[in-house]
Amino acid sequence: MPVFIIAATVVVAVLASAAFYRAVRLWWKYLGARVITCPENQRPAGISVDAAHVAAQAFSKSPQLRLSSCSRWPERAGCGQQCLSQVEAAPEDCLVRHILVQWYAGKSCVSCGKPFEEISLAGVKPAVLCADKLSVEWSDIPADRLPATLAAAAPICFACHMGNTLVRTHPELVVDRHRSPDVSKS
Ligand code: SF4
Ligand SMILES: [Zn+2]
Repeated sequence: MPVFIIAATVVVAVLASAAFYRAVRLWWKYLGARVITCPENQRPAGISVDAAHVAAQAFSKSPQLRLSSCSRWPERAGCGQQCLSQVEAAPEDCLVRHILVQWYAGKSCVSCGKPFEEISLAGVKPAVLCADKLSVEWSDIPADRLPATLAAAAPICFACHMGNTLVRTHPELVVDRHRSPDVSKS
């Protein structure tokens, strides 16, 4: 095989690898729910960037962002998506998973007192004990309500969250070891 064909093949392979790597990085960077302040009403709104659309622009120096969802749609559909400037300015700061991970930093479980270690997004995640004393998982909190929810909530570990949930949903399965035995049956 002529040398120039081999060289061209290598160059194409390197460029394709670089583009693929950048596409994956862009996809992950813009993937996930975000909470921003809607410029129209100055209130929190939950949005998602179209991460696949951004990743498809891997060869572009400055990929154009667009949203795939907003908690204010369909009422405000066609709004112009001015909130994207907040995402462009600080892509990570408005990311829900980033906000949640930061929220647990330096805190301990409100129920058992165990300090939270570094949270792995791939592993078991702690939960949130809301103001109504119900513990919920991250996915149960709408992005547009995240700031208000966290402001009034306490962090709770996964084990305590599961225990609370079991007590609430299946009280018949819970054994109260502090209750005296029913001597009338003996
Ligand atoms: S998409 Fe429109 S309505 Fe939704 S937060 Fe952004 S500017 Fe506001
Ligand atoms: Zn706990």
